[in-house]
Amino acid sequence: MTSIELGMPAVRERRVPTRDGRRFLVRTFGCQMNEHDSERIGGLFEEDGMVPATGVDDADVILINTCCVRENADNRLYGNLGQLKAIKDIRPDMRILVAGCLAQKDKEIVRAKAPWVDVVFGTHNLHRVLTLLDHAEEWGPVTEIWDETGSIDDIPSGLPTRRESDHSAWVTITIGCDNACTFCIVPIVRGREISRRTGDILREVRELAADGVVEVTLLGQNVNSYGRDLAVDGRRRPLFADMLRRTGEIEGIERIRFTSPHPKDIKEDVAIAMAETAAVCEQLHLPLQSGSARILRAMQRGYTPERFLDKLRMAESIVPGLATSTDVIVGFPGESDEDFQGTLDVIAAARFDSAFMFIYSPRPGTRAADMAGHVDPDVAGERFERLVDLQRTITLEKNGTLIGTTVSVLVEGPSRKDPSVITARTRTNKVVHVPGIWAPGTFFEARIEQAAPSHLMGSAVS
Ligand code: SF4
Repeated sequence: MTSIELGMPAVRERRVPTRDGRRFLVRTFGCQMNEHDSERIGGLFEEDGMVPATGVDDADVILINTCCVRENADNRLYGNLGQLKAIKDIRPDMRILVAGCLAQKDKEIVRAKAPWVDVVFGTHNLHRVLTLLDHAEEWGPVTEIWDETGSIDDIPSGLPTRRESDHSAWVTITIGCDNACTFCIVPIVRGREISRRTGDILREVRELAADGVVEVTLLGQNVNSYGRDLAVDGRRRPLFADMLRRTGEIEGIERIRFTSPHPKDIKEDVAIAMAETAAVCEQLHLPLQSGSARILRAMQRGYTPERFLDKLRMAESIVPGLATSTDVIVGFPGESDEDFQGTLDVIAAARFDSAFMFIYSPRPGTRAADMAGHVDPDVAGERFERLVDLQRTITLEKNGTLIGTTVSVLVEGPSRKDPSVITARTRTNKVVHVPGIWAPGTFFEARIEQAAPSHLMGSAVS
């Protein structure tokens, strides 16, 4: 099936730079979606003539891009804002902006607790940041968040982006989420799922490739449902599998990753597109969350442990050399010893290459926060340790099987601990440290010599 390019790109008005030479600082909390939003905010600031500050002391404009998924997100925000107030008392012309999920959810609280903030804006308003800053400078503090009436036309494609990496880029394909996992605040703060037009996405990837980018990560809360809202004739719509294939045709893009698919929605067509598209990496992040059918129902995840394992096996059987990773929550309300054993059993059966593991903590505003049966923190902590031990053993065993093999790696940059060693990544998303100096964005072949749970050590194959 061919995908459909719908409509014209949303048009964005360009403006004459008005803040030449002023310095900006963007602090980001949270996920890749927030990191990417911050890159786009940085791009808009640069388009307005601003340059990056070296720190708080020389920043004229400071933006905090907030997250409310992580624990204590609000303490962190108000701690930061308290420190900034002291600086703003001395330099009243310094502008403070608060963006992102917490701003969207708690705009009145941010305003009440930190009246010295100049601009508060929501998750879909980032393209308006300069207009809001203008308004605040002219008229005083301003707040703008989105409401449910938003559509794709309110979200312009092609915003300038200040990327952290020259060779690797995130590309948003959907925003928001139509699911209702009971532990998750995302649908509340990022709204219903909206797909970007296929043509806009491919245009952005082509421009990135022309700019020297060799690796893209397609971003969405649930990438498998990409295009559901782009149907024409009530049925024809682009599918995520089509998006992978079309992106794989773009010259210069050597690696394509995506995050995250939802286990209930991933189907064979995506795995087949992965296997048949050379640039799509052999890497799948499939969030399990729990191995208990009862807890998965309480989480409203839409699959059973058996169904999850079937999907995983399906993908592994279709994509040769597939590496897998997952997310797991320990201590969800009502989780019994038996439920937790279910999680250990699925982890042992799945044998993920890696896992992001969390102890449940309630997020205000979610249904799970009001559920009965919160697990004693000591019990949750002990379960967490057992889970981490099991996954560490599996990861080490899987990494160990790579010793003696030769793999293609893409250099990220010098290792943080030792500048005479570079950090690179395999197609399967494993970190490899190799002695030597190569520029970020360079590909080379490395022979794996040692394995640890968090990384591999190798040497360049000449
Ligand atoms: S799929 Fe579930 S966990 Fe993921 S963003 Fe949507 S509601 Fe949250």
